[in-house]
Amino acid sequence: MDEEAAPKRDKNGPKFHCLPHSTQGSARMGTRKKVHTFVRVKPTDDFAHEMIKYGDDNKSIDIHLKKDTRRGVVNNQQTDWSFKLDGVLHNASQDLVYETVAKDVVAQALDGYNGTIMCYGQTGAGKTYTMTGTTENYKHRGILPRALQQVFRMIEERPTHAITVRVSYLEIYNESLFDLLSTLPYVGPSVTPMTIVENPQGVFIKGLSVHLTSQEEDAFSLLFEGETNRIIASHTMNKNSSRSHCIFTIYVEVHSRTLSDEKYITSKINLVDLAGSERLGKSGSEGRVLKEATYINKSLSFLEQAIIALGDQKREHVPFRQCKLTHTLKDSLGGNCNMVLLTNIYGEAAQLEETLSSLRFASRMKLVTTEPAINEKYDAERMVKNLEKELALLKQELAIHDSLANRTLVNYDPMDEIQIAEINSQVRRYLEGTLDEIDIINLRQIQEVFNQFRVVLSQQEQEVESALRRKYTLIDKNDFAAISAVQKAGLVDVDGHLVGEPDGQGFGLGVTPFSAKPGKKSKSKKTFKEQLSSSARKEGASSPVSGKELDVSTSKTQLTPSSKEGDVKDMTIRERETSSTEPLPSDSPKEELRPPRPSTPPPKPVAFEDFKNERGSEINRIFKENKSILNERRKRASETTQRINAIKREMDVTKEALNFQKSLREKQGQVDHVTVRHVPCSFTSQRAPPNS
Ligand code: ADP
Ligand code: MG
Repeated sequence: MDEEAAPKRDKNGPKFHCLPHSTQGSARMGTRKKVHTFVRVKPTDDFAHEMIKYGDDNKSIDIHLKKDTRRGVVNNQQTDWSFKLDGVLHNASQDLVYETVAKDVVAQALDGYNGTIMCYGQTGAGKTYTMTGTTENYKHRGILPRALQQVFRMIEERPTHAITVRVSYLEIYNESLFDLLSTLPYVGPSVTPMTIVENPQGVFIKGLSVHLTSQEEDAFSLLFEGETNRIIASHTMNKNSSRSHCIFTIYVEVHSRTLSDEKYITSKINLVDLAGSERLGKSGSEGRVLKEATYINKSLSFLEQAIIALGDQKREHVPFRQCKLTHTLKDSLGGNCNMVLLTNIYGEAAQLEETLSSLRFASRMKLVTTEPAINEKYDAERMVKNLEKELALLKQELAIHDSLANRTLVNYDPMDEIQIAEINSQVRRYLEGTLDEIDIINLRQIQEVFNQFRVVLSQQEQEVESALRRKYTLIDKNDFAAISAVQKAGLVDVDGHLVGEPDGQGFGLGVTPFSAKPGKKSKSKKTFKEQLSSSARKEGASSPVSGKELDVSTSKTQLTPSSKEGDVKDMTIRERETSSTEPLPSDSPKEELRPPRPSTPPPKPVAFEDFKNERGSEINRIFKENKSILNERRKRASETTQRINAIKREMDVTKEALNFQKSLREKQGQVDHVTVRHVPCSFTSQRAPPNS
């Protein structure tokens, strides 16, 4: 069980918490995992055996610092430290270092997990040697070329997947970003300076060239190009290569070739060679060196701050944006990636102070936990293609069902205008009674039949309405001038009630039912407006028009409640009947000689009810009959659907058995090319329309 580095004796020294930890390679989504920390000791003939001791399990380092005698015999100077790590690599070959530190991270990248491997330590301790290695001896090649080799080897081992590999090489020097692969002819000069951009997919460097590599050799030549540029730049730009951070990134994208799956995975492996961690600022350096030291000190201490924040579960904010290094690595430090820190140290006594500082950094890093997760994405184009395939397959399956049920020539495509027109005609003929029944073909057709019923119904409603409009004059309820004229004419009172009604319920006028219409029809086609104007003219004379002159036969009038506020409602006032236009004998007693008032039509629903009871009774009867027939057929269709579903279930079972047989045969070494597709389809019966 891992323990954190803890000062052995000093009570005031830093204390570290112990966090639960899972073993490398057991990364699952949602499993928290510690950052793995390793220490590599640079081989030396002058190893400080007295001061540096490794634990028996090779997972800890004890440091013993000789007491500073100048400070006197009694002082509080701490002299012993113990650091627990995931492994100490002493005199380890490049091969062993790769196996221990990088192999799993790279392997998991092809399964969609991001990975970061970082080398930290003072200048000369072996960071670049570990990361890049030397070119003179193939055996001394570092993590970078080996990772590329592993990626391409794994691609070869996975012919079932289409895997693309891209690489980029970034250098951060004095808080400026440099593209180490920008010299390649096809990249072209970068016009705008590179910037760090964050989006939901992660962090990327705008302006940094990313190169597709289809084979190992391409990747190697890119790596070589980058390394050369790093060296050239250190001469031409007078920059010390150990004072810059270098990030080589391998981007992997994995698509399945066999599954035609729309899902694909992406990952990136960041291989980071950090600048020397020694604190140069202290030693009175000036000019360029001081500037470099300031930047290095800053970026490394920001890195440390970010790591402390990442290690502290209570901290919500991690200061990633304080410098280019942490900002660039924002989604590669902690988060969902596999992370490894390799601390390079000297084994000599003279470097012990820096070694101690490097080990402290390592133990802080060990507190950080990450939650490795697969980066899954969806290929929209592939998704559409798959759905199209699925659709075609379902149609085929339906065709099979149809032929089994002796139903031929059934078309499941959306209906065109001609087909819809045909259904409309069928519905009309059916309603007229010239067609006995409408054959049920499929669900789509049933839906369209209902749809056309609705169309015909609403057309009939409109016809009824326009028939009413032809007979009656309509007044817009908001047309106050017309209304007041009506009021003056005595048709309605000021509250909008019909004159003669005991209690009007609002502004609305009814109509005399058809059956109650006066027998005689007027030959005069004088409209109500004309009447109004004529009454207005009369008003100008001595005798104002009596309301009774335009009396409504109230006993036969229906009043409807006013509609909602703002609702424009027409008031219809029946044209005056012949009798009402006839001049009244001036001496007739008013009650007896009161002419029938022009009546107004009832509201639409009432008129429609009347229509159904009278003129439209036959149509209504046919309609009701048809509705019940349709309901009966719907029931039958639903039964058929259930039968189809049962057959489908049977097919599924058979298919499963087939698959089982297939896998059995495959296990027995037989190759079978017959595949059975699973078709997740289900027929659902439509809900019957509410009976009304
Ligand atoms: P850094 O990058 O940390 O500044 P380098 O990797 O450049 O240090 O190492 C400095 C020198 O030490 C190089 O010449 C390198 O070849 C050598 N060196 C470092 N580590 C080892 C090692 N483990 N085995 C052999 N040589 C090493
Ligand atoms: Mg270096």
